[in-house]
Amino acid sequence: MPEAIVLDHPLVQHKLTLLRRKDTSTAAFRQLARELGMLMAYELTRNLPLQAVTIETPLETTTAPLLAGKKLCLVSILRAGNGMLDGMLDLLPSARVGHIGLYRDPATLQPVQYYMKLPEDVAERFCIVLDPMLATGGSVAACVSRLKQAGVTQVSVACLLAAPEGLALLHGAHPDVTVCTAALDRGLDSHGYIRPGLGDAGDRLYGTT
Ligand code: URA
Repeated sequence: MPEAIVLDHPLVQHKLTLLRRKDTSTAAFRQLARELGMLMAYELTRNLPLQAVTIETPLETTTAPLLAGKKLCLVSILRAGNGMLDGMLDLLPSARVGHIGLYRDPATLQPVQYYMKLPEDVAERFCIVLDPMLATGGSVAACVSRLKQAGVTQVSVACLLAAPEGLALLHGAHPDVTVCTAALDRGLDSHGYIRPGLGDAGDRLYGTT
């Protein structure tokens, strides 16, 4: 089984359980997805390079670390990826944002691209792909392929839930990609839903059931 970073922090696990509950309201679901996005941004940026700078505190001159200016791009897979985006931007306000529209063909479960907009300098940026549900893995793998075609060399993926099938497909296609998830669930059902899961993330975010 390919490796993923599973966030076992109690706050993440608590919020994820609230998110899974079927009676969680649309408003609460949206807020929880945002908060989990922020917590994932914290984890996925832990290896960003730092540089030492000289600063003046009110008491003396000292040397302290600042981010070394590594550029970031958050790439949201529409539409559910947007549920994690604002929380990430709360923590990473200077990040650029790309969007990619990929829907799953209900018959084949294969990803079909209908939209893509990336920053011009995306190739220079560390990209974090946002998709709450790493289910079959097809959409995320297709998104990573398009980023690599655009010249991107460093990609991580943030999801709320991952299925073993999705992880295996993604790592088969892109073994260099780090995945961060709040939980690794049992697997997919015959409709491609993650079990036990949380249902359709887009519908739950936007109240479209
Ligand atoms: N997409 C969702 O929104 N939910 C799943 O369980 C699988 C894919």
